[in-house]
Amino acid sequence: MASKKQKHKIRTQFRKKHQGRSKTGDLTREFQDQADRLDKLAPTERISGKGELTRKRTVIGAELTEDQSGGFTVLLDYDSSLCRQGRVLRVHGLSCVVETEDGSIFRCATRQLLKSLNTEQRHVVAAGDLVIFRPEGDGQGMIERIEPRYGVLSRTSRGRQHVIVTNVDQLLIIASAAEPVLKPNLIDRFLVTAEQSRITPIICINKIDLIDPADLQPLVGVYGQMGYPVYLVSAATGLGVERLRRRIVGRQSVVSGQSGVGKTSLLNAIDPDLKLRVQEVSRENQKGKHTTTTAQLIRLQSGGHIVDTPGIRQFQLWDIIPAELAGLMRDIRPYVNACRYPDCTHIHEMDCAVKDAVADGRVDARRYESYCQMFLGDD
Ligand code: GDP
Ligand code: ZN
Repeated sequence: MASKKQKHKIRTQFRKKHQGRSKTGDLTREFQDQADRLDKLAPTERISGKGELTRKRTVIGAELTEDQSGGFTVLLDYDSSLCRQGRVLRVHGLSCVVETEDGSIFRCATRQLLKSLNTEQRHVVAAGDLVIFRPEGDGQGMIERIEPRYGVLSRTSRGRQHVIVTNVDQLLIIASAAEPVLKPNLIDRFLVTAEQSRITPIICINKIDLIDPADLQPLVGVYGQMGYPVYLVSAATGLGVERLRRRIVGRQSVVSGQSGVGKTSLLNAIDPDLKLRVQEVSRENQKGKHTTTTAQLIRLQSGGHIVDTPGIRQFQLWDIIPAELAGLMRDIRPYVNACRYPDCTHIHEMDCAVKDAVADGRVDARRYESYCQMFLGDD
């Protein structure tokens, strides 16, 4: 952390703004987005050189770091003696709710310069962000800096990336063993999303009290072999809940899963006061002018947060390019480069290494079926 107010000068060179976009998920594209954001730096920044193809500018009092996605983040200087660290629990219109380590809550606005770094998102600060803010009394504050993000869950619509939540440690994929019937293909969809966002997935199969757990062994084995943790639990009997709680404590977890599988029951079994806190937050939200909340973090008594996003709970495959799908499936990925045709879809081609692997049992047939369904967009 920057302890003193040190002035750094960074000279950045960026490509011209409208150069045509490469496909989604491409690093060039991400870099371009960052460049676009920097293009909107406040007019007080010094600008040097404004050629046809490149623009250079010097940002004083900032450092540029490369983030996880290969993009760049500008870290603005701040006066540490006046500031505190916190985590954004939710964003409301132009302000956001920030929680400090000790659980204090501040309603914060965002420093103008930080806002101007952003062009692609509607709001520069996202739920989950770790921020440095300056308290201004009366529970208010000003966000001075956003720390580099990891575990970003976002969706792209009309070529724009919308960040839903950041700094997510894990995606809890909750399914039920019965009532509703277990849908492994749905688990596979969530797994693909987790792989794409590079967020660790945790598979939880609830309502284990309704079946003979031995029946699930083959399925659990397939996921286990791929390195995915699987938890067999019952919110009703408490079976496996303690083990799951240990996995959740101190981390930021996004909850996903079809309605009726027992997400609410499971979260309540993990933290009995969670329901109260969710109700508190929604009451508070109704009071505010901006009732639309994209994502919200709910603090767990024992540390960590659950990310609640009504839209995410049942999310479908977002932004997955069919050609990238096989590479996002851990068991299929090792074979894709051995197919005869480099653009093999692994559906109908001759000499397909993926189909060969399915034929001799190296790839689970049900997983391959799941791949075909997702590839063809069947539901
Ligand atoms: P959500 O829609 O995913 O939040 O699911 P809920 O938590 O509302 O649960 C849906 C239904 O499943 C409720 O009637 C719960 O009582 C029931 N349920 C939840 N967990 C279990 C469980 O482990 N075993 C059984 N038998 N029923 C459960
Ligand atoms: Zn193939």
